[in-house]
Amino acid sequence: MSDLLSRREFVRSSAAGMASSVVMGIPHPMRPPRPLPPESRWAAKPVVIASANGLRGVQKAFDLLLQGADTLDAVIEGVKIQELDPSDDSVGYGGLPNRDGVVQLDASCMHGPTKRAGAVGCLENIKTPSEVAKLVLKYTNHIFLVGEGAKKFALSYGFKEEDLLTEHSREEWLKWRANLNPDDDYLDVPEKETMVVRPTGTINCDAVTPGGDISSVTTTSGLAWKIPGRVGDSAIIGAGQYCDNDVGAAGSTGRGESNIKVCGGFLTVEGMRRGVAPTDACLATLKRVVSATESRLLGARGRPKFNLTYYAVNKRGEFGAASLYPGQYAVHDGAEAKIRDTAHLFEQT
Ligand code: ASP
Repeated sequence: MSDLLSRREFVRSSAAGMASSVVMGIPHPMRPPRPLPPESRWAAKPVVIASANGLRGVQKAFDLLLQGADTLDAVIEGVKIQELDPSDDSVGYGGLPNRDGVVQLDASCMHGPTKRAGAVGCLENIKTPSEVAKLVLKYTNHIFLVGEGAKKFALSYGFKEEDLLTEHSREEWLKWRANLNPDDDYLDVPEKETMVVRPTGTINCDAVTPGGDISSVTTTSGLAWKIPGRVGDSAIIGAGQYCDNDVGAAGSTGRGESNIKVCGGFLTVEGMRRGVAPTDACLATLKRVVSATESRLLGARGRPKFNLTYYAVNKRGEFGAASLYPGQYAVHDGAEAKIRDTAHLFEQT
């Protein structure tokens, strides 16, 4: 380094170099990455929060934020790790199918700086629904595309049509079908192999950049064995996730139907708008969920028979998560990517 080139200039110029290489790897970026100002001028503490399956995702998104990437580009690249991972049977490729053995994916996202939103529901044969939701947000006058129309939209941007069932997800579906009804024409499989619980799974990811910009995304294969055509909360703006660049972002995983009824992502952000801390805003939304739960879904002590988790981050980079029953979440708080316990309302049902 020449004497004339100060350390700060060196850091800035290498950040710019890194930034241009970053954008090469992000399909359809919201904006080119920008070199970051010096840390003393950061408007917010950068942070990325996600459901517990997003540990790799928060690391990836945080690295991108520090390379000056856009906030939505960062979270989408983060959740794509799970979408593309065939061993995660709750999201994207390898997700557990619906009643008919067809994988139908939901995703939605919001971009704080431009106040835009995008979503897809019941998307078939495309591995990364979060990316398709981002393209709805970026390139259309609409917010929500579903089914065949969503797939055609994705294909028009060069996405490849692929079989999303893996050997594992197909086998899980066959076992479920075999044990569904003793009077059907499928022979039951041995007791120890039965599917007694209905697996769920999703990834939500929310981020604040050093500039104070915020975005959120949620993506899922939804409830396993669902009725074909069912759309869960992940695809619904204000339920599966919500973001307001002046306030913060929040998202959810767990029983989608219970979240939709309280508009949980929106409600949590509205709590933070009134100055409530992220964890407390999540807990307040969970209390609303409990009071909105119909009796058939309540256990003996009036507690829900399902779990639901909210994740939230505010404009200052403060974050938190809470669930009905003990759970975990992933966060990169500036120091490292780690798994933490959520706050919770109940120890057990
Ligand atoms: N919320 C998702 C849905 O209802 C499922 C999950 O998060 O496990 O589709």
